[in-house]
Amino acid sequence: MQGSLIETLARQGVTRRTFMKYCATLASMMALPPSAGRAMAEAMASAPAASKRPSVIWLPFQECTGCTESITRSHSPTLEGLIFDVISLDYQETLMAAAGHQAEEALHAAMKANEGKYLLIVDGSIPLGLDGAYSCIAGKSNLESLKEVAKGAAAIVAMGSCAAFGGLPKANPNPTGAVSVADVIKDKPIVNIPGCPPIPTVMTGVLAHFLTFGSLPELDKLGRPKAFYGETIHDRCYRRPFYDQGKFAKTFDDEGARKGWCLFELGCKGPVTYNACATVKWNGGTSWPVESGHGCLGCSEPDFWDGGGFYKALSMPANPLKMAAKAAAVGAVAGVAVSFFNRGKKSAAKSAHETTTLADLEK
Ligand code: SF4
Ligand code: SF4
Repeated sequence: MQGSLIETLARQGVTRRTFMKYCATLASMMALPPSAGRAMAEAMASAPAASKRPSVIWLPFQECTGCTESITRSHSPTLEGLIFDVISLDYQETLMAAAGHQAEEALHAAMKANEGKYLLIVDGSIPLGLDGAYSCIAGKSNLESLKEVAKGAAAIVAMGSCAAFGGLPKANPNPTGAVSVADVIKDKPIVNIPGCPPIPTVMTGVLAHFLTFGSLPELDKLGRPKAFYGETIHDRCYRRPFYDQGKFAKTFDDEGARKGWCLFELGCKGPVTYNACATVKWNGGTSWPVESGHGCLGCSEPDFWDGGGFYKALSMPANPLKMAAKAAAVGAVAGVAVSFFNRGKKSAAKSAHETTTLADLEK
């Protein structure tokens, strides 16, 4: 039997105090004032009966189900998972019991009952090739479904790099003509939560913000919540002191790697990747890829699959001290912008991905 969130938490062994602390941490991660933590706790704890909870419709398109796995399978039970008790998840093909006509009826009933108020979550890209025939659900192309359901949505969450930027399906040569949600929908507020997959806490933070304030959090130029994508992996990486000292692992099992030296020369894309992995971490804060000994692949950036090789070092200088000396010698002006991922392309994100390369300094 479903009770209030607080009752559900108590049954799971989570105290009110722990819940309040969780909300305060979430607010602080999102750079909100302490009062926002209390507001979030109150908004979520006073979630109304199931029939009146904010409606969420979740459409999976051209995807691998990794985003759903990330959100639902991180660890159990989770406060993140329990947040879903605050919303009414009215349609999600992977998680819902209904199938076929019943599922479609549930979708249309939720759209009708919550017209203009529901939150639409999309994971997966939208294939435009062959009139959308590459991916169809209930006899409709993903393109048709997206347009139909987006019409009555209050806001849209593009979850994962495929929905946010096209992701793997859009990788060269993009056989299905995959595009992102924002490439199709132009008249609704859209928040991008990229990552392959995205971090569950980021999703929870965005949901909590929407439930508490009825709006999306502040976004960067790529439509990502600034609170979670405002800094690079490199900015907050615990291996950063080794980078600054010019100490780099040369192979994944050499002495430097065992001592925790920087993975830059092994292809780490941390310096040009905006995400919260280094601070929020994964699996309930257990670890994250760089802590496990593998460089960042840049999964929360547009076109990361086509970025020039996962194990190829970035073209920016590996030794920052040498870079500074070189810059001083040639009188180079810092701030020359070259996006590793979008080099040479027109990109609204350019200023958000500024890095100075050795090539720039040598000009
Ligand atoms: S290059 Fe990668 S491993 Fe090295 S400090 Fe930056 S993020 Fe960490
Ligand atoms: S460390 Fe980099 S590649 Fe790994 S999940 Fe985080 S952003 Fe994605």
